[in-house]
Amino acid sequence: MKNLLVDKNSGDNIQVKVRDVIIGAQEKTIISGPCSVESLDTMMKIGRELKALGVHILRGGAFKPRTSPYDFQGLKDDGLRILSTVGKEMNLPIVTEVMDARDIEDVLKYADMLQIGSRNMYNYTLLKEVGKTKAPILLKRGLSATISEWLYAAEYIMAAGNENVVLCERGIRTFESYTRNTLDLNSVAVAKQKYRIPVIVDPSHGTGLRELVSTMSVASIAAGADGLMIESHISPDNSVSDARQTVSMETLGRIMDTVRKLETVL
Ligand code: PEP
Ligand code: MN
Repeated sequence: MKNLLVDKNSGDNIQVKVRDVIIGAQEKTIISGPCSVESLDTMMKIGRELKALGVHILRGGAFKPRTSPYDFQGLKDDGLRILSTVGKEMNLPIVTEVMDARDIEDVLKYADMLQIGSRNMYNYTLLKEVGKTKAPILLKRGLSATISEWLYAAEYIMAAGNENVVLCERGIRTFESYTRNTLDLNSVAVAKQKYRIPVIVDPSHGTGLRELVSTMSVASIAAGADGLMIESHISPDNSVSDARQTVSMETLGRIMDTVRKLETVL
C-alpha cells in the first residue's frame, strides 16, 4: 500500500479521543464489559466493579451478530439505554457495535464509540457511513481478512472524512480448532510498524477460552498493542453469550495489574 491515509508517512500517529480517554497515548487503554448487555441490574453491578478496577471504557453489545438466528440477538434500543445509564452513573465512556447503517444515528445518541464487528468489516456501505460521522470507531478485523484488507477497511472510514479509527485484532479463522480463533499478533506488530492507527487486541474472541485470556493479554501488550478489549462479567458462567471466554472481575484485575507493570518497562 502506498500513500494511503493509514500509512505512517502520511501523517503523525493518530490518537483517538473517546471522551477523556486517549487511545494511542502512553497509557494502555482497557475496554471491558460483558459480551451482551443483559439487564440494567447486571450491567450496573458490572459497571461499578469495572470502574473500581480502573477500566477506561465500558463495552457491551446491544445489537449482537450471532451465528444462529435463533440465538439471543441483543436488547437493541433497550440495551443502548441501559449502557448509557450505566456509563453516565459510572462516568465511563461506552463502546457498542452498530450493525446497520440505519442505526448509526440512534446508536450515537447513547454511545461514545462505535464498534464495527468482524462480520461487518467488509460492509463498505457501513464503513462509508460511519466515516461521515466524527465518532471514534473501533474497527474489528474480519474473521478471514488479511492485514491489508483490514487496513483498506480503515482507509474507507478515513477517506470518508473520519480519522478517529482504532483497529481491533480479534483473531482469525485458521485450521486450528482448539481455540475459537487464532489470535494473530503479527498483525499488531505490522500495524504498529507501518501504520499510524492505534491497535487494540481482543484476546477474548481471539482465543474463545477464558483461561488463555491473561497470557494472550500480556503477549498482546508485548507485541505493541495500545490496549485490550476483554469480555468480563460478575458471574462469567451465567453470561448470556460467550460465557466460555468471559473472565471474572478478579482475573481482569490481575490482568490490569500486569499491564500496568509492563507499561513501566516497555
Ligand atoms: C463483540 O466484540 O461483541 C463481537 C461480536 O466480536 P466480533 O465482531 O469480533 O466477533
Ligand atoms: Mn462476544
